[in-house]
Amino acid sequence: MSDKDITATRKDAEGKNKNKIYCTFCTSKMLNAGAANFVNIEFALPYIHSKGEGEANQQETISDYWLVEDMYTFENIGVSHTVGNVKYLACADCERGPVGWHDLSSKKSYIALCRVKHE
Ligand SMILES: [Zn+2]
Repeated sequence: MSDKDITATRKDAEGKNKNKIYCTFCTSKMLNAGAANFVNIEFALPYIHSKGEGEANQQETISDYWLVEDMYTFENIGVSHTVGNVKYLACADCERGPVGWHDLSSKKSYIALCRVKHE
């Protein structure tokens, strides 16, 4: 399956996440099913690193994200460093990330589909 096909299986008819969303490295649950809306937006996220490895300086452009309107929608979410208007989001338990970003001016959060587990 292409990435596009895989993305299509992740969302329901309304474009919301069909499955619960978990951290790929541990059992931490980030979002319940139906809590986020699919959006196509290009944003460069630094590569995943664990805490202590320092800031990754390489980035990857990702375009498939789950939009979360309100931070309180998350079951669990952690924050890592802030760059300008952007706060990077990480797993609340194992602190690996970034899995997405939070826009400090719009208060919206975006979780990269390819950085999380759908179950
Ligand atoms: Zn985790």
